[in-house]
Amino acid sequence: MSTSPRDVDAALFGNRFAIEEVPTREFPAEGMSAVDAMRLLGEDLALEGDPARNLATFVTTWMEPEAQRVIAQNLHRNFIDHAEYPRTAEIEQRCIRMLADLFHAPGETTGARTQGSSEAIMLGALSLKWNWRKRREAEGASTSSPNLVFGGDVHVVWEKFCRYFDVEPRIVPLTPGKYTIGPEDVAPHVDENTIGVAAVLGTTFTGHKDDIVGINDLLVRLKRERGLDVPLHVDGASGGFVWPFLYPDSPWDFRLEQVRSINVSGHKFGLVYPGIGWLIFRERADLAPDLVFTENYLGKTDATFTLNFSTGSAMVLAQYYNLVRYGRAGYTYIMRNMQLNAQVLAEKLQAMGRFELIGAGEEQLPLVAFRLAEQQPYDEFDIAWQLSAERGWMVPAYTLPPDAQDVTIMRALVKQTLSREHVDTLARDIEEACATLDKKGGVHETERRRIVTGSGH
Ligand SMILES: *Cc1c(COP(=O)(O)O)cnc(C)c1O
Repeated sequence: MSTSPRDVDAALFGNRFAIEEVPTREFPAEGMSAVDAMRLLGEDLALEGDPARNLATFVTTWMEPEAQRVIAQNLHRNFIDHAEYPRTAEIEQRCIRMLADLFHAPGETTGARTQGSSEAIMLGALSLKWNWRKRREAEGASTSSPNLVFGGDVHVVWEKFCRYFDVEPRIVPLTPGKYTIGPEDVAPHVDENTIGVAAVLGTTFTGHKDDIVGINDLLVRLKRERGLDVPLHVDGASGGFVWPFLYPDSPWDFRLEQVRSINVSGHKFGLVYPGIGWLIFRERADLAPDLVFTENYLGKTDATFTLNFSTGSAMVLAQYYNLVRYGRAGYTYIMRNMQLNAQVLAEKLQAMGRFELIGAGEEQLPLVAFRLAEQQPYDEFDIAWQLSAERGWMVPAYTLPPDAQDVTIMRALVKQTLSREHVDTLARDIEEACATLDKKGGVHETERRRIVTGSGH
């Protein structure tokens, strides 16, 4: 690397990227010093949103320093090298057993660590498909047109599964005012080609749960009366770490007979940084054996059930850290704090007289879903934009899935780091953003569409 006088200046006084463009297209011919590379990244990332004001994401934005140390000290460990790192593999199994216990599995079970709920859902739904095919083959029946039943309130990953793995999606549309599904919605779609029904515990859109008890009862009845054994998978990406602590007496898990598998994101209310998710089966038999591969690359035979192969160990260890660090008591304490602050925010929003809350009296994730109570010269997208421009808060506005697409709502996640003081400030800032919009009005319709902050994560 040639050393120009400028490089010497930069080395002495700090920063070559004060006046130089950063590499963005061509594979760099020369390298740079470690300090320069670090500064380059630091300056880029300084322009990101502030995670503490990101009320859009469900994903963990804070872990305590001791957990961060565990993560930092284990970044070099490939999770899949079970032969070399048997303790890490054992810690994964402990997490699976503890989650199965939390979800009331009746006996010995199995499961998998995944990259997040998306991989867990792909694997869980593949197992549904394989088990359905085996049942059909045993009956000598056709296996050419599998279908999967779920509501319009699911995460996009369910439609993705259907497209990637050639399954007909039978999607129950929502309606304005009804943002979850129940047995009456599911019943008309279930037949002998249904590989399973997916129900959501804590939807991405409003934080509520499908009527899982009702859907389970329907499927039990179908089994008794028509001999159709249709498994129920619960997508507990968010809710799987919330309901056991906030609503322990509300059954949604393996306490219900037809619930055969559950996914949960460790990196959402499991309070671990991304990416970590879990798939838990009710019984060993619910995992289709053909999906488990045995290999002996690394000197020892090993069974794997994953879409990915190599991946980090750090988040598995961090998940175990949280499970033992917090226990039921700790998770309950944290979830209740979030719920209390969400209630305070909800009350403040209601007191403003501008907003209506969505399903605030029902079991819900610790968040506030709200919308303008009346027509205004501005809409929810304008409020999201104004709030972000004035105060840097990221509170998304979005339209609901079909057939409730004319309903726009806003949603504020109330997480562990959002203190009571933050809640009070946020409420004042929302009031002020509305006061600004009262004076200046909203922006043009086409402008509006560009500032949708998104909702899918
Ligand atoms: C977040 C979410 C997903 C996807 O989970 P990842 O962990 O981000 O892959 C699936 N379903 C629901 C209900 C979610 O909230």
